[in-house]
Amino acid sequence: MTARIIDGRAIAAQVLEEVRKGVFELRAAGLVPRLATVLVGEDPASRAYVGNKRRTCEQVGIESVHHQLPASTPGEALLELVRELNEDPGVHGILVQLPLPRGVDTQAVIEAIDPAKDVDGFHPVNLGRLVAGLETFVSCTPAGILELIHRSGFETRGRHVVIVGRSNIVGKPLMNLLVQKSPTADATVTVCHSGTRDLAEHTRRADILVAAVGRPHLIGADMVRSGAVVVDVGINRVADAQAPRGHRLVGDVDFEAVRRRAAAITPVPGGVGPMTVAMLMVNTLKAARRAAGL
Ligand code: NDP
Repeated sequence: MTARIIDGRAIAAQVLEEVRKGVFELRAAGLVPRLATVLVGEDPASRAYVGNKRRTCEQVGIESVHHQLPASTPGEALLELVRELNEDPGVHGILVQLPLPRGVDTQAVIEAIDPAKDVDGFHPVNLGRLVAGLETFVSCTPAGILELIHRSGFETRGRHVVIVGRSNIVGKPLMNLLVQKSPTADATVTVCHSGTRDLAEHTRRADILVAAVGRPHLIGADMVRSGAVVVDVGINRVADAQAPRGHRLVGDVDFEAVRRRAAAITPVPGGVGPMTVAMLMVNTLKAARRAAGL
């Protein structure tokens, strides 16, 4: 068997086209959706992520306003900026790029963001609403994974989904999305982590396997059931003398080996990554609509 490769870029483009239409309608009604981006320090990967998010905003007609702060910014100054953005009626979404420099209390910053502008879906209020099955901002990567699965024609209903990784930004919210009683969820979910005994025993039982760990090639072909759908969230830099920059990006899954066993697989890059950015646009449009009472 050779797996179908799920094209995250193409599916993200569909989502972005829908967002672009929604933004157009709002703009026609006199409201410009606006996302405030905040970057503390000069970490190259974070700069690239924020740059990509801002370019995508431009593509769909969302205005982005960037706040660049030095790495030495005291936590209190960052909190003050977040409060100002909370108060600004022209700002609909606030994105503070993580990770923050050491010494800054990340959780305090997350909790300072107005839940109505929390387009990353990291605020405990939004996480709590997700657990309770209420309308909320779902964090972008888990929301993107679900879109990717459904728009590729796979169902989650009645399927056994095994998630490797239990972070607050990927594994836990994804688990909570998937267990909701809804036709677009309704999965049976197993969550694995570094304390899981015999990981392969669990992953081999997955109809849908999601790897969100941050370890290159952790998931080999022997850990995947024949015919499974494999979603690779990991983004890892590995040295590669042939690559122009001396490194390349790989996921958590041994792509070449697993594609011979799975029914479908997401590549890295070009799988979950573009969906994450697309869902940020979806959330920002939603925040702007809500602010307008729509
Ligand atoms: P975290 O480091 O926060 O979490 C990693 C999780 O993997 C933890 O739950 C950890 O367990 C678990 N883990 C670590 N080692 C093992 C192991 N050997 N076996 C089983 N589980 C293990 O990472 P994130 O969730 O933030 O990110 C995961 C990956 O996804 C990273 O590569 C990141 O770059 C990528 N990512 C990609 C995104 C995208 O848009 N494509 C967005 C967000 C992240 P424990 O809890 O016990 O420590």
